[in-house]
Amino acid sequence: MADFLTTNGTSYRIETIIIEAKKTLTLVSPYLQLSKTFYERLKDASNRKVNIRIIYGKDELKPNEKNSLAELENVELYYFENLHAKCYFNETDMVITSMNMYEFSEKNNREMGVHITKQNDSSLYDNATNEATSIIQSSEIIQLTKTIRQLKKENKSQASTNNKQTDKKPKRGYCIRCETRIPYDIEKPYCWDCFTIWSQFENPEYEENVCHSCGEFGTSNMLKPVCYSCYKKYEKITF
Ligand SMILES: [Zn+2]
Ligand SMILES: [Zn+2]
Repeated sequence: MADFLTTNGTSYRIETIIIEAKKTLTLVSPYLQLSKTFYERLKDASNRKVNIRIIYGKDELKPNEKNSLAELENVELYYFENLHAKCYFNETDMVITSMNMYEFSEKNNREMGVHITKQNDSSLYDNATNEATSIIQSSEIIQLTKTIRQLKKENKSQASTNNKQTDKKPKRGYCIRCETRIPYDIEKPYCWDCFTIWSQFENPEYEENVCHSCGEFGTSNMLKPVCYSCYKKYEKITF
């Protein structure tokens, strides 16, 4: 028998499905944003050799998120424009819900869901997996190749063809909270909107997830807005 889930139950179940996936994991969610926690769960699954399929349909993925996904093995990413369904399953368990993937760690919305097991609700489970397969067949596959961003680590051959500008500070950086592109300034690593929110608390060590310089995932804050390699590259040398 399927179980009814409220918001907390839904988050818990989705997380468990990711954690317990042994062979396959399918995540169907129109809105895809990778929180750090969510990304780490996916990374663990990928390290366990689970085949992961993600189908989304709204919002362009940020370069940071695409790069992070590209680093994972066994991840297939599909885009289906008219996607509205939300469904998450591994080889044994499934959740059909109103909850988008990025909301699984948030508790603000009221969501509902049902938890189904392949063992106890096999025809329901099969119908839903078939529908997911059908959506994938009409989807566009998104190539996950790492975008080498300007001013990121160059390899030696590129570096030698570059002129002296290599260690010059970047002109543009990323907001350490929302990844919007902003002028590079380690004194001002937030965009206007995020700065407004940050300044209500003014905690210089409030943890963010993005390097101001390269835009990759990593712990950052107002005091240390760039990752170590960017710091070494652009700040240490020039001081
Ligand atoms: Zn921002
Ligand atoms: Zn960096």
